[in-house]
Amino acid sequence: MDQLTHSACRVGYFACMADTSWVDVAGLITGSVGAATGIAALMLSLRSTTASEDSAVSARLSAEASKEAAAAAHASVGEATELNRIERNRDHMQLGPPRPTSLPIKIEQDERLGGGHRNVWSQFTLPRPYRVKAWAFSRASSHPLSIDLLVRAGQVRFFLEDWPPDRKNEDGLKTDRVVVHFWCPAEVDDVEHWTCPCGRPEEGDGSGPGHWEWQVSLDPPPPSGGVRRAG
Ligand SMILES: [Zn+2]
Repeated sequence: MDQLTHSACRVGYFACMADTSWVDVAGLITGSVGAATGIAALMLSLRSTTASEDSAVSARLSAEASKEAAAAAHASVGEATELNRIERNRDHMQLGPPRPTSLPIKIEQDERLGGGHRNVWSQFTLPRPYRVKAWAFSRASSHPLSIDLLVRAGQVRFFLEDWPPDRKNEDGLKTDRVVVHFWCPAEVDDVEHWTCPCGRPEEGDGSGPGHWEWQVSLDPPPPSGGVRRAG
């Protein structure tokens, strides 16, 4: 029986189904309920799947956020380290002895030798005490300069080379350049102790590489007349 044959029935489809088997109705209802249950299960399943996906997305976003935070923290640490390195290098530069573009020379009569012998002196100025080791270099050789290991703030004057009576101005100096190594004073030195925070080794015993190093040329001899020619 279909619903069309009962279109005129006022009590409705189910109420007038006198000739309809209740088993069919029960089956229909059961089927409906089963379908409804299936849909509900499907919905639950879909909701469950959606919840799982949401959860996965949240976890991924959370992981990405953590990764970004870690990267930001790492970058921050890196920036702080870099800033610290720059500051220590700046302090290192500021604490180093100011390097002159060239060293002045002064040719003076040698009172002890006499006879037209002269000595060439040079000098540099330090803003604070340092330990120092210096060498004069010529094309052929080098020799250590006579400078105390510990020098105080102020002018440091040192003998560079002799100027024999037969040397002419145009002959120039024997020394090509001066190399000076500097270190902070050692704790045992009788001066105000200070240190450089840069982390470079401070082997202030005159050996090993300098904490600061100069390689400086020398001013040429004075113009003619500054040095009298022998004879
Ligand atoms: Zn330093």
